[in-house]
Amino acid sequence: MMNRIEQWTRPNIRALVPYSSAKDEFSGSDALFLDANENPFGTYNRYPDPQQRKLKTVLVKQSNISSDNVFIGNGSDEVIDLLLRIFCEPGKDKIGAFSPTYGMYDVSASIHNVGIVKIPLDGNFDILEADTSSLFQDAKIKVLFLCSPNNPTGNNLNLEKMLEIIQNFQGIVCVDEAYIEFSDQESLANWIEKYDNLVVTRTLSKARGLAGARVGYAYANSSIIQLLNKVKPPYNISSLNQQEAIRVLNNTEEFNSQTKILLEERSMLIKELRSISLIEQIFPTAANFVLVKVKDADRIYSELLRKKIIVRNRSKQIANTLRITVGTPEENKRLINALKEIKL
Ligand SMILES: *Cc1c(COP(=O)(O)O)cnc(C)c1O
Repeated sequence: MMNRIEQWTRPNIRALVPYSSAKDEFSGSDALFLDANENPFGTYNRYPDPQQRKLKTVLVKQSNISSDNVFIGNGSDEVIDLLLRIFCEPGKDKIGAFSPTYGMYDVSASIHNVGIVKIPLDGNFDILEADTSSLFQDAKIKVLFLCSPNNPTGNNLNLEKMLEIIQNFQGIVCVDEAYIEFSDQESLANWIEKYDNLVVTRTLSKARGLAGARVGYAYANSSIIQLLNKVKPPYNISSLNQQEAIRVLNNTEEFNSQTKILLEERSMLIKELRSISLIEQIFPTAANFVLVKVKDADRIYSELLRKKIIVRNRSKQIANTLRITVGTPEENKRLINALKEIKL
């Protein structure tokens, strides 16, 4: 009997015989390796561990989630891409997302020739009062993305409502927790045992300070993890990146102190922004950025650019808004001073 995750899987993926390397079959390091046509000399002459066993051990130790429930991706963007490959038939199926949100869901859908149903968030950029009826009427929506804290708005999505959607939606629900380290809301990772259709994505690119290396991960039921492993490129995480990810994850002290600084700086930044007349509204944030509404976003964006300060103009999604990342104390002061100088 197929479980429902297998039933939702594209038939070609269900039938797929994945690429298998000798490194999948043998995990020791004290053997004679004549299997992969590598150059026997050098430091990075060997292919990386396709299953990232050491890195998973570190993640497992820090999370109380079993290694059967962890997938490592080349950034969490790779997990988004793989979910579409696994569950959405090109030209036929759709994904769902609450807008405005992270742009990659839309881009990934376009790449795969998969439709996207966008459900407007409510007046608080939350899902609580959003009209979710289309999610439950359109059987072609195979994967639903919930981004919490949401990018670019910064707020958490309502936890009970997310759980209600996961419980009732007949498809995969991917909760993107790229900014969860900055939020005081509970992670949905604690619910993967209960909900077989839940995927929680995380990343080392934001709070963990490793955007340059491209390492993200997902927690899910083992059926979904097995599918992700089956479809991913065999060597998706380089040895260099696996090493660096392990180093960063073990450096808890630095992570804690940087996160503390960034949260204090976030409060400082909000306080300073309140005193600037160009800023009309500051939206609540649970992430390491602040979305602000201004009088003339294009003008302010260009004035800042002239001063070599780059913020994100999100006006195409939400009228006259700029998204500002929390920087170091010095960087934040520079931004505030620059904003004070701008005369419209
Ligand atoms: C930045 C961001 C990501 C990026 O993740 P990578 O691990 O760097 O690919 C994912 N989701 C959201 C919502 C983001 O803002």
